[in-house]
Amino acid sequence: MKIHLTDIDAKTPFKRKLTYTARQLHSENRDVKLRDVAFDLEVRVDPMGYVARYEFKATAEAECVRCGDIVAYPLQGQDWIALRLQPPSEHHLVLNADDMNTKFLAEETFDLDNFVDEVVDLEIPDFPRHEQECVAFESHTAPPTNRPFAGLADLIKPDKNQGDL
Ligand SMILES: [Zn+2]
Repeated sequence: MKIHLTDIDAKTPFKRKLTYTARQLHSENRDVKLRDVAFDLEVRVDPMGYVARYEFKATAEAECVRCGDIVAYPLQGQDWIALRLQPPSEHHLVLNADDMNTKFLAEETFDLDNFVDEVVDLEIPDFPRHEQECVAFESHTAPPTNRPFAGLADLIKPDKNQGDL
């Protein structure tokens, strides 16, 4: 969904609750599915342009970098970001905290779905992995033992059932 920022009344913030039961995250370099996304957005006019405030909850499902199985991340967050239609001028080189939270838009249309993707994407670790042991690994791994190579014989002779390790 796209909104035209210039349509937003200075006195009436634009408010929208975006919900997706399942959504493929549009990310350049990874495959992430979002579930149960609830995204509250408010965009209001401010002297420099617009300010978007948001609050969200979602579950992200990504591939674990270790075992390849799906690892789920319950996510939530809230923040704000300034939306500017003009790129920073040469007279405006000083970076401060405000600039860090600024998004420069090439046009006055603002794509809400893309914005949700961008915001949620930031909360997902770069290298998703199961916090504890990977389940896929556990099923192939010997139980805890003081002999670190106790399970090796099984790996070398997978056809031979050796019972307890
Ligand atoms: Zn894993």
